[in-house]
Amino acid sequence: MKLVLASNNPGKLAELQAMFAPLGFDLITQGSLGIPEAPEPFHTFIENALTKARHAAQLSGLPAMADDAGLCVDAFGGLPGVQTAFYATQFGYPKGDDNNVRALLEQMADIDNRRAALVSTLVALRSADDPEPLVAVGRVVGEIAREPMGSNGFGFDPVMFVPEFGQTFAQLQVEVKNAHSHRGRAAAAMVALMRERWL
Ligand code: IMP
Repeated sequence: MKLVLASNNPGKLAELQAMFAPLGFDLITQGSLGIPEAPEPFHTFIENALTKARHAAQLSGLPAMADDAGLCVDAFGGLPGVQTAFYATQFGYPKGDDNNVRALLEQMADIDNRRAALVSTLVALRSADDPEPLVAVGRVVGEIAREPMGSNGFGFDPVMFVPEFGQTFAQLQVEVKNAHSHRGRAAAAMVALMRERWL
């Protein structure tokens, strides 16, 4: 069965493709069907992911799945959340991973509570009218390091120190990170939900 992924990120497609293949799903990106990206106007991951999945299901006529992810910092009441990708721009820096890290370290310079979570929310729908979306959340809790460490990964990985590994995500092998990341955990939970409800 085809499952439309409401993302055009090739990295995400490859990672999710491998996890959903055992269910018999063939993941295809919405871009390959000529479906444009949906607006993401909301303040919560779940609202944005649901909107993106519904948009992809509506325009494709197929089951669809979307994710929304970001960094939630305890000391900032869970922000930047859905605005994570644009975090640096709030402080006058151009958009980008390095600037995001720099802005975060500056904003947290005087903050002792370093606790933060990377969060991934996945939503899947059988059709645009599906009244019972599947929702799976994966989280990894860490401490924002005082300076970047490691060169693997992307985004906030160099400052995402994960106590259960004693390293930042950027110091871990990519396969180890992927197996334990927020995205990996959300995908594993979604696979279990689909097995239980859809198959
Ligand atoms: P996206 O929605 O998955 O593209 O991610 C939104 C924001 O969260 C981007 O700024 C990413 O850099 C950041 N982010 C998402 N996943 C990770 C991760 O695994 N490590 C570090 N940063 C991440």
